[in-house]
Amino acid sequence: MNLSLSDVKTFSEWMNSAGKKDLSEIIRYFYEKSTEDERSVLSGSACRIRDMHYGGRVYFRGLIEFSSYCRNDCYYCGLQRSNLHAIRYRLSEAEILDCCAEGYALGFRTFVLQSGEDMHYTDLSLCRIISGIKKRFPGCAVTLSIGERSRDSYKELFDAGADRYLLRHETANEDHYGKLHPPELSLNNRKRCLYNLKKIGYQVGAGFMVDSPYQTYETLAEDFFFLRELDPHMIGIGPFIPHKDTRFAGFYHPSSRHTLILLSLIRIMLPKTLLPATTALGTADDMGREKGLMAGANVVMPNLSPLIHRSEYSLYDNKLCKGWEAAEHLPKLARHIESIGLTPDFSRGDHVDLQKGGAPT
Ligand code: SAM
Repeated sequence: MNLSLSDVKTFSEWMNSAGKKDLSEIIRYFYEKSTEDERSVLSGSACRIRDMHYGGRVYFRGLIEFSSYCRNDCYYCGLQRSNLHAIRYRLSEAEILDCCAEGYALGFRTFVLQSGEDMHYTDLSLCRIISGIKKRFPGCAVTLSIGERSRDSYKELFDAGADRYLLRHETANEDHYGKLHPPELSLNNRKRCLYNLKKIGYQVGAGFMVDSPYQTYETLAEDFFFLRELDPHMIGIGPFIPHKDTRFAGFYHPSSRHTLILLSLIRIMLPKTLLPATTALGTADDMGREKGLMAGANVVMPNLSPLIHRSEYSLYDNKLCKGWEAAEHLPKLARHIESIGLTPDFSRGDHVDLQKGGAPT
């Protein structure tokens, strides 16, 4: 490779202007040919460029998985509606607020409300939940991750106080999208939702699973291209992990390797993005969370859902919910983060361009 991996500014400019062919080639290179030394220069460069913008801070989000009901049938997901073995639960508005209260006492200032696409929660009830959180916990950010809705619905939830929205695009290639989803779901609509959310004023998160079935270097290049075009505030990527009750059961043995490479490349391409070291990464690799932070990630999302329901939000097999993932083990997680030279940060942790007072030093 002619590119100097350690000249991070030039590398970043290159990632920002590269065509699809070059993007697919660089991903192929790191997956198949790179040496351990090259991968460690890559992750070092990713951390340097992250720290220029975020000063080594790692932001904490409290994740509340409030419903395991879903009207969709995404082929890869354990919550898909046709999975008759899935255990379904819903949290009441009071239970959601209790989770926030517990999280607030632990120090969290961002709550991520995630669920399957469960229309039991109307715009009205969601607005009540959001405004209830904002009223009781002023200064906290509310992130939603509840799937595809109409523009009007997104606007109402925003007006009620929601700050951010996570909606992974899953794959930016039409054919690939069709191999992961039933015909009633479309990439076009997914993208439309993301652009609507951005226009309304949310901090928006896109992303995809790494090593999802039928993913290729070309589809990954399209993901990078789309991310560059959307320029989201957050990007969630993590390894695809098969679920036993889906058509992809046993499809692939998950590992962290490819995700770590892509985390670094994404960080270098979009230096200011908020990039979580995901639960899936921690599930695929015992040290996945630490490795993710050392590859350029800067967000962790411990689980605040009620203990009795945690294992029931089963997106994939063996999903972690007790160790590092559990909000109760926060001090341990914070110590881990310090031990790798980073600074745990419990503030709202907005995208750096939106932080009051500008970038941290
Ligand atoms: N319903 C919302 C939506 O569609 O965005 C949020 C919940 S959805 C379950 C959250 C994310 O879980 C998906 O965007 C997907 O990328 C991820 N996911 C689902 N099944 C997975 C699997 N088998 N392995 C890894 N991640 C998975």
